[in-house]
Amino acid sequence: MFKKDFPLLGSKVIYLDSAASAQKPKAVLKAMDTFYKTSYSNVHRGTCHLANMATEAYENARYTVALFLNTKADNIVFTKGATESINLVASGYAQMLKPGDEVLICTAEHHANFVPWQQACLRSGATFKVFNILPDGRWNLDDFKAKLSQKTRLVAVAGMSNVLGVLNPVQDIVSMAHRVGAKVLVDAAQSIAHVPTDVKKLDCDFLAFSGHKLYGPTGIGVLYGTTEALASLSPYQFGGEMVDKVTIEKTTFAPVPARLEAGTPPITEAIGLAEAINYMDKIGFTTIQKREQALFEKLIAKLQHIKNIEFLGEPKYKTGLVSFNIKGIHPNDLSAILSKENVCVRVGHHCAMPLHTFLGIKASLRVSLGLYNDSKDIDAFISALNKAIGFFK
Ligand code: PMP
Repeated sequence: MFKKDFPLLGSKVIYLDSAASAQKPKAVLKAMDTFYKTSYSNVHRGTCHLANMATEAYENARYTVALFLNTKADNIVFTKGATESINLVASGYAQMLKPGDEVLICTAEHHANFVPWQQACLRSGATFKVFNILPDGRWNLDDFKAKLSQKTRLVAVAGMSNVLGVLNPVQDIVSMAHRVGAKVLVDAAQSIAHVPTDVKKLDCDFLAFSGHKLYGPTGIGVLYGTTEALASLSPYQFGGEMVDKVTIEKTTFAPVPARLEAGTPPITEAIGLAEAINYMDKIGFTTIQKREQALFEKLIAKLQHIKNIEFLGEPKYKTGLVSFNIKGIHPNDLSAILSKENVCVRVGHHCAMPLHTFLGIKASLRVSLGLYNDSKDIDAFISALNKAIGFFK
């Protein structure tokens, strides 16, 4: 139904790798092209009409993102992706944490929400703590409660796991974390394209995502922070745009969000991201979720008929993506044959090595849906998968 909006998705490609990166609709490509052709300039510094148009378009993009998350434009920092957003917060915390403080994350985190915290703790002398998941893929909330303490300064968790596909009960742990005075960062890299995200409702302190998984371009990411949380971070990088006054003796910094956006920002990419949000808004999350859920149920039902399939976690707790192995066949071998059939999936540890270690496996095959997928994609994938399995019998 929506496939026609995505130029790359002709009848040949069966794209089931949207969790790695989503394809781009014509509207996004057109908005970026038009901006380059009609209004491109650097932002903020200039006085000519082009600079004003570019600044207005860039700041309008910030406003669009803010509305999408139910917050104000000043609470939105543009970065180059979820990884940079998380690193920005972690580098601020590396300076604030002290020995005795604790950071708590989940074993299922993507490396982007794992390694920065491990490093921040190493640098500051704080303790790095990790809570487990249950065998069905959901958070082990008892383990979370046991590891949360008065010493916890920050909890960093994914809204949705990029391997397990579980939509995590973020709101529940935000209130527990706040009760002990800890701040919460939500890694929304996966959840952002599948469910509406309301930072007021979530009540989180920080939230990070990338534009490219939300049908926008690469090179643009978002860090949401409450005014207090953003103000607590010292600048991540130094240079133009982020200063108030510079003298030989000292530099004073601009207020957030400018203080955290040193240098020329990803201007056209921000405009592309705003257009992706407009595109999604036109379809609406009700439609997106209904379609994706129906398709996902079909996918799971078909996979459950496949002999020797081993799911990572319980399928009934998943949304939008599923990872599995077929006993006795390496996922790389399966994916090589799927690729010959024009089916794009992802294999490996999916940047979640601690999770794979916890599950006692090295790799898995992941199938992930986007709003453009349809029933035919599922049929083509299942038939290609059966063919691939048959090859190894
Ligand atoms: N967190 C999660 C849950 C992800 O799936 C990803 C991307 N695979 C990231 C963070 C990092 O996103 P990016 O590479 O776009 O910075």
